[in-house]
Amino acid sequence: MTKTTWRPATALVHGGTTRSQHGETAEAMYLTQGYVYDTAEAAEARFKGEDEGFIYSRYANPTVDMFEKRMCALEGAEDARATATGMAAVSAALMCQVKAGDHVVAARALFGSCRWVVEKLMPQYGIETTLIDGTDLANWEKAIRPETKVLFLESPTNPTLEVIDIAGVAALANSIGARVVVDNVFATPMFQKPLELGAHIVVYSATKHIDGQGRCLGGVVLSDKKWIDEHLHDYFRHTGPSMSPFNAWTMLKGLETLPLRVRQQTESASRLADHLAGKKAVSRVLYPGRPDHPQADIIAKQMTGGSTLICFELDGGKAAAFKLQNTLETIKISNNLGDAKSLITHPATTTHKNLAEEARQELGISGGTVRLSVGLEDVEDLIDDLDRALSGL
Ligand SMILES: *Cc1c(COP(=O)(O)O)cnc(C)c1O
Repeated sequence: MTKTTWRPATALVHGGTTRSQHGETAEAMYLTQGYVYDTAEAAEARFKGEDEGFIYSRYANPTVDMFEKRMCALEGAEDARATATGMAAVSAALMCQVKAGDHVVAARALFGSCRWVVEKLMPQYGIETTLIDGTDLANWEKAIRPETKVLFLESPTNPTLEVIDIAGVAALANSIGARVVVDNVFATPMFQKPLELGAHIVVYSATKHIDGQGRCLGGVVLSDKKWIDEHLHDYFRHTGPSMSPFNAWTMLKGLETLPLRVRQQTESASRLADHLAGKKAVSRVLYPGRPDHPQADIIAKQMTGGSTLICFELDGGKAAAFKLQNTLETIKISNNLGDAKSLITHPATTTHKNLAEEARQELGISGGTVRLSVGLEDVEDLIDDLDRALSGL
């Protein structure tokens, strides 16, 4: 059951819950591949769509269904499909609605695998793609053509936390009948509602803040029911990127604490961003929520909170970034993000190592750039850890 009047925190505890005959409090985990029918007629009716029940867990599963409904309640979306990973969500959302001859425009500051899908995979199928600096609306306007079907962006971006004007991009898309797909991972569903801003499709890697505790991979695509029925439904059923019921159960429990975790992590991140900005070894801090963020005006317009991530630059380049990482104790070195554990990464040698040096420069990633995903530790311990490591540079 989902009440439409619930505020987000309530929807995240109760949204989508269905109970078996046992009336369990926690969501039941239906680890089943298939479903049995009482009669041959019942099976026929289900396949005809006359009876609403489940058929096969590649299509739908009761635990996965609860997760999808809870995400819909949070996002204000009519329908959703949960996927095995964030990349399954991104690639399904993009590929299900384009064909050879279509054109796609994407902001170039994309998560590495998303960029691969746009830059390498789509052209292999005759879909032309154009990558632009998405922070300037004029670039979107210049890139769109009559055959442009999809505009794809991530905001804030990885790792430099650039922000893109979603409402502005959506207005351009509407003027040519194209659709906007937003990868909303960095904003989290707590701080940005792309559908309300005019985007047509929202995708998440649930692996990040939605799980929030570094356990399971997952993803989700959300949109209106018509788009899902016409574009995603068959693609999803027949290509099989489905989420496992176990992972859906883990994500359901993750959603219950999402507002608490994201609020706390953002409060700590905001404090750490200001602290880092006052350090001699740090030449630049990029943090949505600080007044010196290059797109502070757009942030004020489209986001209701800052970020659990901080991007900062060290004067000493790669050597300083490596020394910092190697000296930290509480903060762990990892390319993941959105975890309860604080994680630091050096994009130039890890997540963005496959890009050409020129492409890295375009994105503002230098040898001294580091990305910090702030966890749930006591912020004073994180400050101690960073102070100790920075003082050694
Ligand atoms: C992690 C991530 C993805 C991919 O998600 P997986 O669950 O790792 O497949 C896509 N986009 C963004 C912005 C991400 O951070």
